[in-house]
Amino acid sequence: MKKTLLTLLLLVASLSLQAQMDFEMHYFVTPDTTNHYLNVTLNYQQTSDTKELVLNMPRWAPGYYEMLDFAKHLCDFSAIDNQGNALTWRKEGLNRWRIQLPEDRCAKVSYRIYANERDVASSRVEGNIAFIAPPGVFMHVDGHLQHPVTVTFLLPPHWQHISTGLKPHADDTSTFTAPDFDTLYDSPLLLGNYYLSHFSHEGHDYEFALETPDGVEECGLQEDFKRIVSAATEMMGHVPYDNYCLIHMGQGGGGLEHLNSQACYTDGTYRFPSRQAHVKFLAFVAHEYFHLYNVKCIRPAELWPLDYDHEAITPMLWVSEGLTCYYEFRLLQYAGITNTDEALQLLSTYFSLYAPYEGQRHTSLRQSSYDIWLNFMNKDANERDVRVNYYFKGPIIGLLLDVAIRQQSHQQHSLDDVMRLLYNRYYRQLQRGFTEEEFWAAVAEVAGTPLPEMRQLVDTTADIDYDRLLAPAGLCIDTTDWSIRRVANPTKSQSAFLKSMQL
Ligand SMILES: [Zn+2]
Repeated sequence: MKKTLLTLLLLVASLSLQAQMDFEMHYFVTPDTTNHYLNVTLNYQQTSDTKELVLNMPRWAPGYYEMLDFAKHLCDFSAIDNQGNALTWRKEGLNRWRIQLPEDRCAKVSYRIYANERDVASSRVEGNIAFIAPPGVFMHVDGHLQHPVTVTFLLPPHWQHISTGLKPHADDTSTFTAPDFDTLYDSPLLLGNYYLSHFSHEGHDYEFALETPDGVEECGLQEDFKRIVSAATEMMGHVPYDNYCLIHMGQGGGGLEHLNSQACYTDGTYRFPSRQAHVKFLAFVAHEYFHLYNVKCIRPAELWPLDYDHEAITPMLWVSEGLTCYYEFRLLQYAGITNTDEALQLLSTYFSLYAPYEGQRHTSLRQSSYDIWLNFMNKDANERDVRVNYYFKGPIIGLLLDVAIRQQSHQQHSLDDVMRLLYNRYYRQLQRGFTEEEFWAAVAEVAGTPLPEMRQLVDTTADIDYDRLLAPAGLCIDTTDWSIRRVANPTKSQSAFLKSMQL
């Protein structure tokens, strides 16, 4: 009863806030291909009485845990009224613009964004391509992220395509409306002329937008991708999108997961020099795909709702990133893409990148999640002496957790059940993020007993007793090269364990 009253009061408060700030936002974006700019104009119309408009540009992008301060790429800001008269404005802080509105409360705000970086969190206008990373291009009204926004792209006449997770207007394929800014900020776009393919799979629509498609059809990416999607769907029991867009660009760095898309830079070709390189690439694609569950839906509490002005510091990025690395291996196995040797080789990579280094004795996995905001891309020379990378230790803990849960539950459950529980309980039912205690409670619930040793391996720099922890699964570590292998003569129970893990 008390809760119902509180909910009602909150609803009334939010409705009255919306009534006070009734407005419409329509952006127009024109790529300047000669000078690498995006020319942006915002048509703002307000029906409420507020005399000022405060616009705010995000300081970071979801999935990229570093303050990027996108406003550094902005220039030539101006604001005029409907008659073309300049409006008074001033900048506040690093990423806020306060504009005095005219009597009719309408304003046209313009600025240019320099877009010339080959990075998944940054925009780029080059030749016949524009990649748009929305957090660095669009501003929201301060405090009003949950407001619809429309964007129209004004493209050069010979540009053919626009690819994104957003759906275009039925009558204008250059115009998109996002229900809120969280959606817009998490929907990158590729514009221009590039390789495009559409296909349906298990009732959902997919789009591949590839800047450098060399060899893509020969390598069978579409079929492998479908197998990854099917494996993830079977594991999670649900698909959280209608349509999914895969944006791959030429040579650059890294990939970034989004609500119903992924944006990645590749090596500029799909002709891989070896089977190992091909598997590594598919693991990369699977990683970004699985993020749509693990981090977009299965979210640490600190990442929901998002605050684009401040760091979203959480001790659980090792869950979001580290366990997603573990699921690269799992999904490729479930999809039937890798054989046992290839799967073990994939896992071995993490051990060899983590175990030999001194940093494990100085920083816990938990702490590394906090500190990522200090050193996401800024690697000091002593990185591996004093720090732990959750991309490397995270999947190792994923494997150990999976083994421990399978062992404790007598093979009835696995880490997959933890992922499903977090997804269904916190994302779908409660529609919120999970806390650290809730994560470990979910592990205990699935395993049938708490796993304090596993938590200790995450929270402290304690040594990992690989032999003892991996033995039940019939696995061992060769410390000469830190590769993970099947034990030489597995017992009956170890053989059964290996079989259950498809190893
Ligand atoms: Zn990731």
